[in-house]
Parts: sequence; structure tokens; C-alpha cells
Amino acid sequence: MRDLLGGKGAGLAEMTRLGLPVPPGFTITTKACNAFSKSGRFPPGLLKQVDDALATLEAKAGKTLGDPSKPLLVSVRSGAKFSMPGMMDTVLNVGLNDRTVLALAELSGNERWAWDSYRRLLSMFGRIVKDIDARKFEAILERAKERTEGRKDTDLTADMLRAIVEEYKDLYRSELKEAFPQEPKDQLREAIGAVFRSWNGKRAVDYRNFNKIPHNLGTAANVQAMVFGNMGHDSGTGVAFTRNPSTGQKELYGEYLESAQGEDVVAGIRTPLKISDLKERSPAVYEQFAGAAQLLEQHFRDVQDVEFTVERGKLFMLQTRTGKRTAQAAVKIAVDMVDEGLISKEEALLRVEPIHVVQLLLPRFDEEAKRVAAKEGRYLAKGLNASPGAATGCVSFDPDEAEHLGRDEKKPVVLVRTETSPDDVHGMLYAKGILTAHGGATSHAAVVARGLGLPCVAGCEALRIDYGAGEFRVGDKVVHRGDFVSIDGTTGEVFDGPIRTIDPDFEREADLRTLLGWADDVRRLQVWANADYPRDAQRAREFGAQGVGLCRTEHMFFEKDRLPVVHEMILAAPEYRRTNAQVRSLRSDLESARDERKVELGRKISLLEPILEDLSRRYLGSLEKLGHLQREDFAGILRAMAGLPVIIRLIDPPLHEFLPNYDTLLVEVTKLHLSRGNPELLKATAVSKEDKEFLEEVEEAGQGDLARGIEALLPPKERLLAAVAATKEANPMLGLRGCRLGITYPEITEMQVRAIFEAACQLKKDGVDVHPEIMIPLVGHVHELENQRAALEAEAKKVMAREGVTVDYKFGTMIEIPRAALTADEIAKDAEFFSFGTNDLTQTTFGYSRDDAEGKFLLDYVSNKILPFNPFQTIDREGVGQLMRMCVQKGRKVRPTLEVGICGEHGGDPSSIELCDEIGLNYVSCSPYRVPVARLAAAHAKLRGTVSVVKDR
Ligand code: ADP
Ligand code: MG
Ligand code: MG
Repeated sequence: MRDLLGGKGAGLAEMTRLGLPVPPGFTITTKACNAFSKSGRFPPGLLKQVDDALATLEAKAGKTLGDPSKPLLVSVRSGAKFSMPGMMDTVLNVGLNDRTVLALAELSGNERWAWDSYRRLLSMFGRIVKDIDARKFEAILERAKERTEGRKDTDLTADMLRAIVEEYKDLYRSELKEAFPQEPKDQLREAIGAVFRSWNGKRAVDYRNFNKIPHNLGTAANVQAMVFGNMGHDSGTGVAFTRNPSTGQKELYGEYLESAQGEDVVAGIRTPLKISDLKERSPAVYEQFAGAAQLLEQHFRDVQDVEFTVERGKLFMLQTRTGKRTAQAAVKIAVDMVDEGLISKEEALLRVEPIHVVQLLLPRFDEEAKRVAAKEGRYLAKGLNASPGAATGCVSFDPDEAEHLGRDEKKPVVLVRTETSPDDVHGMLYAKGILTAHGGATSHAAVVARGLGLPCVAGCEALRIDYGAGEFRVGDKVVHRGDFVSIDGTTGEVFDGPIRTIDPDFEREADLRTLLGWADDVRRLQVWANADYPRDAQRAREFGAQGVGLCRTEHMFFEKDRLPVVHEMILAAPEYRRTNAQVRSLRSDLESARDERKVELGRKISLLEPILEDLSRRYLGSLEKLGHLQREDFAGILRAMAGLPVIIRLIDPPLHEFLPNYDTLLVEVTKLHLSRGNPELLKATAVSKEDKEFLEEVEEAGQGDLARGIEALLPPKERLLAAVAATKEANPMLGLRGCRLGITYPEITEMQVRAIFEAACQLKKDGVDVHPEIMIPLVGHVHELENQRAALEAEAKKVMAREGVTVDYKFGTMIEIPRAALTADEIAKDAEFFSFGTNDLTQTTFGYSRDDAEGKFLLDYVSNKILPFNPFQTIDREGVGQLMRMCVQKGRKVRPTLEVGICGEHGGDPSSIELCDEIGLNYVSCSPYRVPVARLAAAHAKLRGTVSVVKDR
């Protein structure tokens, strides 16, 4: 039904069915809109159908369009399948002309109301149907208001409104060289066309692009008898949510404006009443409304966002839709509704989006930093806490500029506006936060910000914004365009300058924890975390991780005090290998050699032995030092994850990543050469920061004497350069890395395994339950795995025998080369587990180098639709996904107990998680902060298809 009637039409029909007071009307389907968009004309027969439906409506209403004896007025309203609040157009009061306005005045005895309605039609029709600049109408209205005592629209008298109507008609004629159409049927037809056209208006298209709503759905057009909130004090119009959309609190939340029509309540023309105040002001109206709101919520079993109008004390319902809400509200409402017995736990899970979990765990302002800012006098003002969260950014008053800064320059921007309108949305999309001077909790800014998950402070009346000067003032403080401000959407506070943010407190998110507990009951897929350090592992565990799926050991090499040891190890390694092999072959020759050869071989060996000893001290000695350090690192992680599996990956990156940069070294060596005997040259050419640092290094090496420094530094730098040059590769990503390193330099991986098992044995003796799993990276051929596993498992057994302890362990491999996936049945014979390294698997399957691709062409590929999305963010189902699926099947055929998981960044991406569930992985592993999201996404994956819910976007 929503496909054809749109959400608004379907909602109106449903409310009518429920017996709620809804003005009669009919809906023209989205099909007609699509035909209209294609040809620019109404499809044949449509106008006849509209005429017929109108006749029925007239009979129901007991009024006739254009008939001065009983004039019917209608609204023509847009409404698509997915609600796009304020993105399309609506025309009210269609049917008024020079004759019916007089009739209306006379029949009602309310002349003011009749002229007020007419001026509204003229400006709406002019703006929406005829594209006249809205500001021209506003200027006329403003001028008239200025002449009244109270300066409000309600202060305008009937005569004034009549004069405004005349001015509007003049404006209309001068803009269009034609008169305002007096024939109501022409008005109706043109309004329907305009509503259809608004489907393809810029705002609507931007909104759909951002929310991934298809462009071919079209909008319906609803023609509905008017009811009037602008008939005086006992009339008005309002919008409300059945629960607080910001916090989720169970309370009617919204606003009501007396003597007003349509969007007046959200446009900030006058300050509206809070719904709760309506209770005292007009208890009878409030009771009617509260009853209707509750009925709707019970019926739709979800929060409703409703529009209503009160005409002389009588309530009319004009719209109901699922209420957009913040992350915090989404979680609270879902949990509350389960407690109230309104929805099932499964439904509750499906109502919370993974992105909500991300937003709930977003950083917030550090309270201490806020106090300090206040002490420093940087507190500016307080507005309405319209959408929670913390944002710091530079002030922009212009949505175009905000879009440019945020999107193209990746700068944090806070968009500051008097109030926002649908024409500002493109700028809001790229802002970090929204700050407005006017408007309430249901103002445009607030609604859109909540939908986008952006912090928003609205109605901050203390701000005096001067767009022309590019500044705003609060008292005597001035903030200019480009200056930093911080807004706290949770409290409504606004500060000058940046404020430090802190990590969220998962402990305190009680509702979220409840919901994730339900997710844990539902999901099949386990959620593990990638953690390189004990503190990450600890945090992951707090977030609910069930294991560590990837502990990268190379990070442990990068720490400052370890890097020199690592250098020493890498520099000595190749020579050690070479010399060792030489000595070994000489020794075996020696055994079978005859006497005279024996002497010579012995001499050669004794020459090489001291060299080998030195190399061995440098290579194996460094390794041993590293082993000690790594043992502590491993012990930390294993202890933090006691009782749970921890997958430790052996060294993976090419060795040169640990060495200084080749180009930098080359420049330094060249400089040293050139300035030999002329140290002043070194001084004279020290321009950049790096140059100056190098100069200091040379000075230090010579204990203050540059010339001596040059001589001292040149030889070691040259040696280093030669070593770096030797490790240089044309394509390091596909070079000597991963298990290839361990096969070439077995001592390195043996050291790592020794350290892991020493740590594990020690912990076990201390009574800690440990489950290390050793992961060998980048295997492409089963022989690589056989080779490494044999050596490493022997090492592990050696340690366990020596320590007299057995630990529960596994050996397995990463799957990140297509060949490994293709030959998974071979590889599974030697692996107890597989872990998909989908970053590398995506690189090698596409033949992309990620860094080059993302920097140069990949994003263009996505925007030109050559690729549907970035395959490094979401797994490419058809290619990479197919390899994964096949790999799991082949692997499990050989080894049914094979444990399979994923440790690439995709492990935290909801749609990739769905794929992982589908192909039967045991777990996904993602960064600690993603664990809660993954828990929910894993539950969604399981529930998908078993529970059906209509989803709005
Ligand atoms: P949107 O989709 O932007 O919310 P609507 O079609 O809901 O636009 O209409 C804009 C405003 O006009 C709303 O405040 C709505 O309540 C009001 N409105 C629409 N139709 C009528 C009507 N028949 N009588 C009175 N007010 C109406
Ligand atoms: Mg509406
Ligand atoms: Mg990899």
C-alpha cells in the first residue's frame, strides 16, 4: 500500500479506518507521478479520475470546489513511500479566489480568517507552483507586520491581510506577466503537477542520495479537505511525537501554536506552546489528542510522529508516521516497548540499527574540560538540547560553504543559522553539529539533526547572528566565521573554542546492554576483537568480545626502545644466514675430505667462525632480547583474555617497514659526503625541520664538532643505507612478507612461538586459563604452511616439555591469497583454523593496492557507479565473498571441526557480517569499539527473513 499511496496516504487511510477524525480526501498514486516525471504530462485519464474522486469528496464534505454558496478548500500534499520530512511540497487552501474568499468571510463571519487563508494560498502557490522567490512574499508580509503593535502575524487585521493579498497579486503579475489563476480546478491541477515535480527537486534528490532511497519510487499526491487552525484562539496547529524522540522518555513531546496553519508551528514565526502546556491551556483538546496519540502508538506498535489541527476546539488528525529518533531514544524505546509487552525482543533488536550503536558510543565532552572552558569564560549560551552528542568545529553560516569545508576539505564544521530550512540540508549533511538561534524541539534543524545523528542545539536565543558581517554575538562576545565553537547537544550548552572529548562509558548504557544481551541470545555468530595490546583486549572484553581474532605482533617491534634492537636484528640477518650456510657446507665437506683438503677447509672454517659468532650475537642475540619483551606482551594479552581464545599472528610486514626510509637515508649520506671538509655547507643548507634535526644529530655525534660528527656518522649511515637498499622491493605488498619471511628467516618466527609458549606456560602455572592460537599469515601454497608449522610446532612442544606444562593451542592460517582459498581442502589438512584477512584478500582478488586505489581512483569508481561501493569497507559478495564461501566449504569437507573467522576490517561492517553469518563462519573479529555493533549486526543477520517489519529509512 505504501508503494502506491506513499506513507502519508497510507497513514491517513489507516487513521480513518481506526475511527480517528481525519478530513476526507483521496490519494493519487505514485504511478501517476512516475508517468508525469517521464513525459511531463498527466497520464491519460488521470484528470477524469481526479474529477470523479473530487465529486465524491465534495459529496462527503457537503461543499463544492469554487462554489461561493458552500466553498470547499483542499490541500494538495506530497507523500512518498519513505518519509522525507519537509523535502517535498504541499499547497494549502486550494479553491480560494476573489469570489470564494468573500463568500468564506461572509459564511463564517470571520473575515480575518478568510483573508489570512487567501494570502497563504497566494504565497504558497506562487512559491511552489510558480517558483517565485519566497523572500519576495516574506518581505511584503514582514513590512506589514512591522506596522502593527505586536509585530506578529496574528496582529494583522482583516484589512491589512486584504491589502497584503492585493500586493501579492501584483507581485504575481509582475513576476509572471499573468494573473493568479482564479479557476479552482486549474489551481488544483497545477498544484498536483507541482507536487509531482517536487519529487525531483534538489532538496528531495539530495535527501534520497544521502539516505539511499531509490529515485524511481515517485511521490503520491493527497488531496484533502482543509481544516483550519487559523480561525482564532480556539484553533491551532501542532506536531508531536508519542515519545520523546531525543531521550526515548515515555511522554508526549511536541509543540502547538494557536491561531496558525500548516508549517507555522515548525517555522519559528512565533514561539509555540509545549504540548505539556496545552494540557493546562485547553484540557479538552489535550485529552482528545493524547487519546488519539496513544491509540496510534498501540496500533502501529511504534513511536508516531503526528500532525494535527484544532479547528474551534475540535481535533483533526492530519498525518502519522514512524517517528525518527536519536540513537539513545531508539534503544530506550525498543527496550521499553518489550517491557510494556508491545513488541517482541526480536522486533526490538531489528528496530535498532547498527549505526545507532555506533552513535551511542560516540565520544562526549570531557566534563572537566567543560568546567575549565567555563572558568576561562568560554561559556557562551544555552539553547535547547535538540539532538544529543558533542561537536567541535569551525563556524560556518552558509550551507554551501559548510558542504564544501566538510566534504572537500574534511574540516569539522558547526553550521550556525538563525533557523534552518529544507534548502540548508546539503550543508547539514556535512556538518559535525548544528546550532540555531530560533526554533524549538520539532523545528526543522532539530528533526533533521536527529535523523542524521548529528548533535544540535536549537533555539539558542542569545545568539545575534549577522550573516552579512559573518559573525554572531552573545552579549559583547563576538564569534567570527571560521572560529571554533563547541556545542553539547545533550545539554544545550554552547562554548567558544574547542573542548576535549572523551570515550563513551559502556558501563552506564544500561538499555544498550540489555538489548545487546538479547542479541547475544539470538545470534549464532560469535564476536571477537582485534587487539594488539592488553588494554585493547581488556576493553574488547568489556564490550562483550568472546576472543581475540587478531593480535598483530609487529606493533610490538615498533616501540621506541625496541626499534634499535629490531634494526640490529634485520641488518645482521641476511649475512648471518649466508655465513651460517657457508660454514655448514664447509663442515660437511670436511668430513669427507682427504688430508690435504682437510687442512685448507679447517683454515677457512676457523676464519669464518669468529665472524659467524659476531653475526650470531647480533642476530640471535637481538632476537632473544625481543623474545623477552614479546613474552611480556603476550602474557599481558593472554591474561586479559583468560578463558578465551587468542589468535596471535606471526610477523607479517616486509622487514623494510621497520627500517628508516630509504630516500631520507640517501639524502643524509649524500649530504655527509658533500660536506666533508666543508661543514658549513651542512649548516647553510639546513632549511626544513628535518634538515635541522639532522644537523643536530651530526653535531651530537661529534660532541659539538660538526666536522668530527660528519666523519663519525658517515660509515654507519652508509652501512644502513646499503642494508635498506638490500631490503628494498619493487612491490613490497607482494614481496618478502608474511610466512615467506618466516620461511626465509625461521629464527624470527621460532622466537615468536617460543615467547608465546613461554608466556602461556608461565600463566598456566599461575592458574590462568590460556588458549593461544598461532596464525601463519599470507599462505598461498600448502607447502608454505607445512614448512612453518613443522618448525613452529616442534618449538612449541620443546617449550612445553621444558616447562612441564601442556597448554591448549591451535595452529592455523590466514586466508588472504586467492590461491589459498582455491586450495582450501589442501590447506585445511595442516590448519586447525582459518581466518579471512579480507583486506589483503580484497587487494589480491581485485589486484588493487589499497593505498593507491583509495587515494587515486577507487572513490571515483564508486561515485561513477563502476563499483557499487568501496570493497574495502563492505565485502564484495560476488567476488571475494564467493572465494570465502568456497573456501569454507572445501576446508570443512576435509576438517569438519575447522574454526573459521574473519579478522579484516570488514569484521565490523554490518552488511559484511551478514555475509559471514550466511557462509557459516564461527566468528567475526573487529576493533574493540565495533564489538557492540557487531553483536547487534550478528543478531540482525540471524533474524533477517524470520521477522518481518516495515522499515522506514
Ligand atoms: P510535509 O510532508 O512537509 O509534512 P504536509 O503535506 O504534511 O507536508 O503539509 C504541510 C502542513 O500543512 C502540515 O503542517 C500539515 O499538517 C498541514 N496540512 C496539510 N493538509 C492539511 C489540511 N487538509 N488541513 C489543514 N492543514 C493541513
Ligand atoms: Mg507533514
Ligand atoms: Mg594481511
